[in-house]
Amino acid sequence: SVGSSAYNIPEWKKDTFGKSFTFDQRTKLSIQEQRQCLPIYRLKEELVKAVIDNQVLIVIGETGSGKTTQITQYLAEAGYTASGNIICTQPRRVAAISVAKRVAEEFGCRLGEEIGYAIRFEDCTGPTTVIKYLTDGLFLREFLIDNNLSRYSVIMLDEAHERTIYTDVLLGLLKQLLQRRSDLRLIVTSATLDAEKFSGYFFNCNIFTIPGRSFPVEILYTKQPESDYLDTALTTVLQIHLTEPEGDILLFLTGQEEIDCACESLDTRMKGLGKNVPELIILPVYSALPGEVQSRIFEPAPTGKRKVVVATNIAEASLTIDGIFYVIDPGFMKQNIYNSKLGVESLIITPISQASAKQRAGRAGRTGPGKCYRLYTESAFHTEMTPTTTPEIQRVNLAETMLTLIAMGIRDPFSFDFMDRPSSPALISAMEQLYSLGCLDEEGLLTKPGRLMSEFPLDPPLSKMLLASVDLGCSDEILTIIAMVQTGNIFYRPREKQAQADQKRANLFYPEGDHLTLLGVYDAWKAKGFSGPWCSENFVQFRSLRRAQDVRKQLLTIMDKYKLDVVSTGKDFKKIRKAITAGFFFHTARKDPQGGYRSLVNNQIVYIHPSSALFHRQPDWVIYHEAVMTTKEYMREITVIDPKWLVELAPRFFKASDPMKMRKRKCLEHIEPLYDRHETNSWHFSRRRA
Ligand code: ADP
Ligand code: MG
Repeated sequence: SVGSSAYNIPEWKKDTFGKSFTFDQRTKLSIQEQRQCLPIYRLKEELVKAVIDNQVLIVIGETGSGKTTQITQYLAEAGYTASGNIICTQPRRVAAISVAKRVAEEFGCRLGEEIGYAIRFEDCTGPTTVIKYLTDGLFLREFLIDNNLSRYSVIMLDEAHERTIYTDVLLGLLKQLLQRRSDLRLIVTSATLDAEKFSGYFFNCNIFTIPGRSFPVEILYTKQPESDYLDTALTTVLQIHLTEPEGDILLFLTGQEEIDCACESLDTRMKGLGKNVPELIILPVYSALPGEVQSRIFEPAPTGKRKVVVATNIAEASLTIDGIFYVIDPGFMKQNIYNSKLGVESLIITPISQASAKQRAGRAGRTGPGKCYRLYTESAFHTEMTPTTTPEIQRVNLAETMLTLIAMGIRDPFSFDFMDRPSSPALISAMEQLYSLGCLDEEGLLTKPGRLMSEFPLDPPLSKMLLASVDLGCSDEILTIIAMVQTGNIFYRPREKQAQADQKRANLFYPEGDHLTLLGVYDAWKAKGFSGPWCSENFVQFRSLRRAQDVRKQLLTIMDKYKLDVVSTGKDFKKIRKAITAGFFFHTARKDPQGGYRSLVNNQIVYIHPSSALFHRQPDWVIYHEAVMTTKEYMREITVIDPKWLVELAPRFFKASDPMKMRKRKCLEHIEPLYDRHETNSWHFSRRRA
């Protein structure tokens, strides 16, 4: 029973606080008692039997019913670890670590012993590991190494309804593998809505339902559209805190910066209310710092206090936080969207789907009847939100995925059995990109560098940049740059010290751009013996640098394995910039006389992000790492280049005729002979080596 009523955000009054929190909803249970309280516990035997009897099983059940943490353990107890390990994939790094931690605790071992996890650049498993949680992306790489997955007995594809690109590819690969390995068991967990579709894909396999245990959630909409959802969200948090009975709050925001800013602002506003107000424990959750998953988010708030968890989409289904009674849903998320016509990928803040909105609201009804504050109108819900989220495979750049599939020996990625097929233009664009990067030859077959690039857990432009740096003699520096750009926010900017932080940051800038600035930061940190105090002095995130250091180490191991030289060029920055160009030539932009920049590939207007080292320089030609769409289309991580390099370093992409009027080659002109246009408008490679 989901009620709904319009809701207007009243001004919160200072005299409404002081409500005492009386009932204590959290009784102390032992960890084993907690396990026995989960809805899935009663169905343990039935579930194990279903897995024995069914090679593939779709499992559906409310978030928090115990699917992720319990099923793997039940199957281990039932003896499935005798013939191989049990794997459970997660779309998100934070979730993989967090559930593994919990399961290790329940199992009674240290993390990395019987229970372990692995995410890109971080492996916390050992010789005794029997249950392994890992990201779906990393699992795809294991497939690349052994396409029979002979070390595993059970695969659980968790949160499959999220439909990440990796999960979709895994679904297709596992569907094939099941025919080769009759002993293998596959469990696919999904939200109720998609269960039939998954079952249909897997030969109409059985669906196992864990009956839900959830309370009604009252849905409140705003009467008018809100222009500033962040401000409205914070006001709503405080209003709930001051006027509503006890129960924790979950606020959904779109990303790290927004969340950090919201937490800071909440803190300030709380301080402004003085000492008579009950304490509000403010907890940010996002995936940029996976090693730092705060176990605090799972801890109940002490009596008399309230906790507010400010999270990305991750709290929608991957993480279950008990004790949430109030959900605030501004209705947005950040999505990676690739426009294959334009050939650009950008992170865009987009409206969520109705399915997501329902899932978010459900988070309020786990412990008791709850409330969900939707910061949008009821009519927006019906008219502006799509019923479900488009699968990632239909909206992102497919280059990395295609390279993986081709490297796995999938001869014709165009006829791969996808649950939802990517569009033909998107597939072609990916193939073109791989061709331009030199991963594929004229016949669409994997080249030697292409094979090597598939071995690195990196996006093809990054691995291309790395290989180019080996040839150019600057791989030592490029390794650091790759590690740094992968790490996310390096600098921070506390609200009360913005000017000081900006000043410190400006001191670290290099005139060549952000890539070299990042290299400079890392090297300066290294020169100080990887010191923490140096970081805080310079407003640099210590944890980000530590992560970059780890990533660098991991990449070095792969370099060693393939005997790729790690050489330093010293101060010859030109070589470094050339290597960057060799990988990211798709992202070239030229200063526009009208202001801003024009991307070379599609002639779109883009701008230098204000945080860039080049913001005040505005050089003529630049290459950027990524585009982010906020109020404008911004380029982030930018380096100055010489346009002459483009023809030299990306001859398959750029024409040499008139370097100052650089035009993109018409790619299809060159690879069109590779494709046959069928009447169905599907494309196939027409020429193959016999
Ligand atoms: P599902 O996968 O069905 O959504 P889970 O197995 O993730 O459910 O969660 C079952 C229970 O375990 C929940 O009550 C949740 O709060 C608890 N739990 C999960 N992870 C942790 C953790 N890291 N710390 C504390 N409790 C956790
Ligand atoms: Mg789960």
